[in-house]
Amino acid sequence: MIDELLEIGVGRFKNSYSQIRDNSRQLTMPAIEPNDDDIQLSMLENGLDFILSGLKHIGSPTSKFDLKYAVLHLSSGIELVLKDRLRREDWTQIFVKPEQATEERLKSGNFKSVSLYQCLKRLEEHTAVNLPDLGLLTSFKERRNPIEHFGVNDSREALEAASAIALGELIDFLAEAFEESELSAEESELLQQIRTGLAEFKRFTVARMAEIQPVLENHKKRYKQIVVCPSCVQDALMADCDVLCAFCGYAASAEDAAELYIANTIGGSRHYYMKEGEEYPLRRCRNCGNNALVFEEGYTESNGICFVCGDTPSPGDYVSCDQCNELCRDEDRAGGMCPECFSAYISEDHR
Ligand SMILES: [Zn+2]
Ligand SMILES: [Zn+2]
Ligand SMILES: [Zn+2]
Repeated sequence: MIDELLEIGVGRFKNSYSQIRDNSRQLTMPAIEPNDDDIQLSMLENGLDFILSGLKHIGSPTSKFDLKYAVLHLSSGIELVLKDRLRREDWTQIFVKPEQATEERLKSGNFKSVSLYQCLKRLEEHTAVNLPDLGLLTSFKERRNPIEHFGVNDSREALEAASAIALGELIDFLAEAFEESELSAEESELLQQIRTGLAEFKRFTVARMAEIQPVLENHKKRYKQIVVCPSCVQDALMADCDVLCAFCGYAASAEDAAELYIANTIGGSRHYYMKEGEEYPLRRCRNCGNNALVFEEGYTESNGICFVCGDTPSPGDYVSCDQCNELCRDEDRAGGMCPECFSAYISEDHR
């Protein structure tokens, strides 16, 4: 039963990994019974936490036990994410017997919840989302049981390859089945850490890159660009007004992606730049007119990136206009002004 409580992720029985990772969370845990929202949110959070833990074990193994925990945690995490999606559709469906579902039982976690197979079948029946491949996930789960009882028998290569495939299915499902706006701050944060962690898992990176090539090619066929993803740092972000990373599933507006890129690679928030009195390197793109170009003037060796049109201007390509502060080509600048400001100046009879 403890296992069941753990799986459902009722606050009081949160898995120990969370507690090790962040003791403050345990300390701030309310002593009173959690309300519905707490339970509802914690199931996905718990699943993502397991996945992140699995990734850490597989990405930087330090002992022979790491692979064991990687498979166990990934497998538990995948199942919880799927169950949470089913719960969001109809919470009674996560009970093996939905007719016996009560809020009280859900709260206590004292009930038998659906198996992976049942969960996928019910998702198929009750939702329109694209589901992960049932065969792939069940075969991954089947690796779990012998490991749990007898330790690891498969080779590292076999387990890594199987983990990579299962993880790929899950990443696609997460992008498809959950709106970023529906996630709590904790869930978003965990998802972000998972996306960043994916790159550490080398075998996954290689397999996934090969797998997404057709998607990237298709994007380029529509005369659009691929740029670096601010979340997973792979060259797999499909630039557009709304961007989507084919590698890790990160989705956002181009402007938000640019801000995340600045925070993750250059460092500093908009607030920090304002405080320091420095120019925030998010600029209006001269090529497409969108406020989605990351461009550092003067101090840098690295190219700019526009997250809408994919333009990557060299550091020397643009300078700021003294009047309006917009970027323009140095050779187009007259009297320190961009062409627009210069012609406005002229028409004001400063001939
Ligand atoms: Zn990405
Ligand atoms: Zn642009
Ligand atoms: Zn100007």
